[in-house]
Amino acid sequence: MRLLIVSNRLPFTVIEKEGELELVKSSGGLVTGLSDYLDSLKDSSFTPLEHLWIGWPGVTVKEKYQRRLRRKTIKEYNCSPVFIPEKEMDNFYHGFCNKTIWPLFHCFPIYAEFNENLWNYYKQVNEFFCEAICKILKSDDILWIHDYHLLLLPKLIREKRPESLIGFFLHIPFPPYEIYRLLPKKWRTEILEGLLGADLIGFHTIDYTQSFLRCVLRISGLEHNLGSLTLNNRILRADTFPMGIHYKKFYAAATDPDVQKEKDEFARILMNTKTILSVDRLDYTKGIINRLEGYELFLEENPHWHNKITLLLIVVPSRIGVERYQRIKIKIDEFIGKINGRFGNVGWTPIQYQYKHIPFKQLVALYNVADIALISPLRDGMNLVAKEYIASQSDKKGVLILSEMAGAAKELGEAIIINPNHKQEIAQAIKDALSMSIKEQTRRIKIMQKRLSDYDVIRWAGDFISELLDLNKQKMTRMTKLLSHLEKEQIIKDFKTSNSRIIFLDYDGTLVPLTDKPQRSKPDNRLLKLLRILSEYPDTEVVLVSGRDKSTLKKWFGKLDISLSAEHGVWIKEKNKDWLLLKPVSADWKSKLYPLLKLAVDRLPASFIEEKEFSLVWHYRKSDPELASIRAKELIDDLISLTANIDVQILSGEKVIEIKSAGINKGVIATHFISNKNYEFILAIGDDATDEDMFKVLPQKAYSVTVGISSSFARYNIYDYKEVRRFITELVTG
Ligand code: UDP
Repeated sequence: MRLLIVSNRLPFTVIEKEGELELVKSSGGLVTGLSDYLDSLKDSSFTPLEHLWIGWPGVTVKEKYQRRLRRKTIKEYNCSPVFIPEKEMDNFYHGFCNKTIWPLFHCFPIYAEFNENLWNYYKQVNEFFCEAICKILKSDDILWIHDYHLLLLPKLIREKRPESLIGFFLHIPFPPYEIYRLLPKKWRTEILEGLLGADLIGFHTIDYTQSFLRCVLRISGLEHNLGSLTLNNRILRADTFPMGIHYKKFYAAATDPDVQKEKDEFARILMNTKTILSVDRLDYTKGIINRLEGYELFLEENPHWHNKITLLLIVVPSRIGVERYQRIKIKIDEFIGKINGRFGNVGWTPIQYQYKHIPFKQLVALYNVADIALISPLRDGMNLVAKEYIASQSDKKGVLILSEMAGAAKELGEAIIINPNHKQEIAQAIKDALSMSIKEQTRRIKIMQKRLSDYDVIRWAGDFISELLDLNKQKMTRMTKLLSHLEKEQIIKDFKTSNSRIIFLDYDGTLVPLTDKPQRSKPDNRLLKLLRILSEYPDTEVVLVSGRDKSTLKKWFGKLDISLSAEHGVWIKEKNKDWLLLKPVSADWKSKLYPLLKLAVDRLPASFIEEKEFSLVWHYRKSDPELASIRAKELIDDLISLTANIDVQILSGEKVIEIKSAGINKGVIATHFISNKNYEFILAIGDDATDEDMFKVLPQKAYSVTVGISSSFARYNIYDYKEVRRFITELVTG
């Protein structure tokens, strides 16, 4: 078993120098985090998981160098490069990735471009990745795809390799539905479908997970159950895994002699002023301008702090060449000049500004020297800098001011949490931080450090992989319950050689697909013919056990020589006999509950009531899925409290809620038949909760089959109604 990590970029950049290829390690949250995890696998006392990293090498590599580079990176770095032509890569990365997804997913719709051409490049590059992966993917590999560049990839791989185990992690926020829906219909559907190709989809915070699940419900109509979704007979999950940092590395580095040297140097430059540190990549999401406005207001309102405080502003160059980023850079430069000019003097510069990437040891020294870290993104998937700052405080001193819009704020509640859009809040937070006692600083830092050390990046990745493996195990168990060719042959053989047989068949979802309008699901001629052939098979009793009312069953199946049961076991009509009630039932409750269902219909457009003699059914398949899901829960709540003293049962099915008299179910019907005669062969096929009652009462020797891949009391699972029909055909002909 290998772990294949897939990300847009490999953990290094290739540089071509006089015909030689040099590899330079790249930094960044995703690369550092995953590299730390992969390193930890080497030290693990368990059998190390072999791994391979797949991604773009950072430049367009000339064809003549490609083979050589691949050999070198696989051998020395466990990395397999995906070569992508320059034009495609440029339009993909600078185009759809960073002009559409990045702004939209960070809730900056005004910056988002909706350009069909760029969308096509995005699709094309995802396909390049798919092709490259499929060339090396083995059947027992674990594939872990990362981030917003590759949203379509899970489905593309699933189509080519249906049995693959695929995990996906999104490192940026997933936007609320109202923002996500701004994407053109086709794109938003394809992106969701792309992600749903994975077995496990991970997000940093519960809000992002819920936004995703809400979009899936509203756009794809799929309802989730505690984050689990069923799609095309696959069960997949969306879950929350807040990415951590390599806590020990930062904590230990703080006492490293090299770091100490850097710290002394910084302390000398900062000349005993209180220091506020700000570190981010250059990006409009990071709220650097808002931060400067907050600092300016602080200086305005607190002249006694002049000459005694420094804002150390580190901005890391990013997406160089993109016009929007260049414009922010100019704005930041100008703003800094304005503040320094307005408040500074010969001996004091209020803002010390560095526009460059800072290497690890210097960064830790800065984290350590700073009295305050001011991190105020307008929107940030996680923000690792905030966590790194806390981890680096080995002396347990320091204050973190953190934007509530950063994913990290969910875990770092002891920070001073601010709304970055409000400069007054930023100014006040700086004031509060400066006046916080050392004792209080230590108290807060200790709590946050404990949390960060418990859930570090190794635990984060480990948890993701173990949940993925767990899902795979469940998938395998379900697969073993899928009716195999051999098992089918055994059942057919038993069917043929038995002297008496009974077959219980559910109707909707078992012999025909579920539809929006129940009256449309009339049996087609082929089905009627199949049931006739089955019923004419010697010594064979066929019982159609349905939730439908008796008049519908009579109209549709009255001409067949089979037994019928209507309303989930209320009515029974044995062959050549009349309808009768198996047990006395009352319908007095119906008039009491009807108004409640009527109210539900009024409050949910496109829902309707189906009235049967001994049951009431509320259907909501055609309604707005999100509102329907809320209304259904409300109705069940109301029904439960109203029916406490009435002898009824409430069944929640596939987009229906059914209320029926208690004590009667399909199990009672099945028992009635099998206790009358000792059948040698018993087979029951059904698809939902009402059929479970039947599966439960059957003797051990009976064959029971549920349609779909849900867990069930049935002995076997079968994919869908089409396969049921094929199977019955094989029974009578095979
Ligand atoms: N970083 C760095 N040098 C710098 C600035 C940042 O190595 O000069 C690293 C930092 O340690 C952190 C990552 O870059 O691990 C930034 O991650 P974060 O989640 O804060 O922001 P992102 O850039 O991913 O939006």
